[in-house]
Formats: sequence, structure tokens, C-alpha cells
Amino acid sequence: MLRPTEVLTNCMNQLPVLNCDDCGACCLHVGNPPGYGGHVDGKGNWVWLTASLEDSERLQSMPAALQEELRRNKDRGLADQPCHWFDLATRQCVHYDQRPEACRMFEVGEDDCVSLRKHHGIENHR
Ligand code: SF4
Ligand code: SF4
Repeated sequence: MLRPTEVLTNCMNQLPVLNCDDCGACCLHVGNPPGYGGHVDGKGNWVWLTASLEDSERLQSMPAALQEELRRNKDRGLADQPCHWFDLATRQCVHYDQRPEACRMFEVGEDDCVSLRKHHGIENHR
């Protein structure tokens, strides 16, 4: 009979050990960094629409060129295509330090992560 510590170790050994290397499955269907949106108002002024206070603060402190790049890509919306910050060659987020809150909250190994990896044929055990 297994002692409690052995049972725990045995269970842990059966869990998938995941990391984000060579994956990016969660970045392949969002079009834009989720949470950094905006539109042109009735007076022709650009208005940012962010998903959280953290996103708003992050956006305001971004370099102007990066803000402009987000504005240029607004029409991608959240269409079912790779995030335009995702580099398909390296499978990395090119502005990882600026990623929005939704990306920060998405946890490796959560159900959606495992399901997306499966959908893209990415091995779940590393
Ligand atoms: S799907 Fe999961 S493992 Fe892949 S990049 Fe996203 S969080 Fe990381
Ligand atoms: S902002 Fe970065 S981490 Fe978030 S979906 Fe786009 S590429 Fe992925």
C-alpha cells in the first residue's frame, strides 16, 4: 500500500507538465492583443477601449509607435486569426512585456490551454 506522500508523488507524475515553449496555441485565434481596443468617435477622435484598469494604464505608458501600431490593426478585431503580436516563426509574443491582462491571467495547464494545445496537435506531455 502506498503511503500518502507516495500517492501524492504518483498523482503528480501523471499530470501533464506543460510549458509555453514552441506553443502559442492561445495566441492563434484572437486577432489582436485581447483587451486593447478602440474606435474613432463621432468627432473623428480616437478613443481607446480597454478591458481593465491595468490594461488602460499599460496602454497609456506604451511607446507612441506601439499605440499607433495597435490603432492601425484595429480592424483585425478579435477575429479568428493569430494575434498580430504573435511571431509565427519563433512562436513568441513580440511585445511580451506589454501583453494585456487577459494574456497574463491565462494559465498554463488550465482546461482551455490543454484543449487549445490538443486542437493544434501540440503534445501535452513535455
Ligand atoms: S496554450 Fe498554454 S502552453 Fe500554449 S502558449 Fe498558451 S498558456 Fe502556454
Ligand atoms: S498579446 Fe502576446 S501573449 Fe497576448 S495573444 Fe497576443 S501574442 Fe499572445
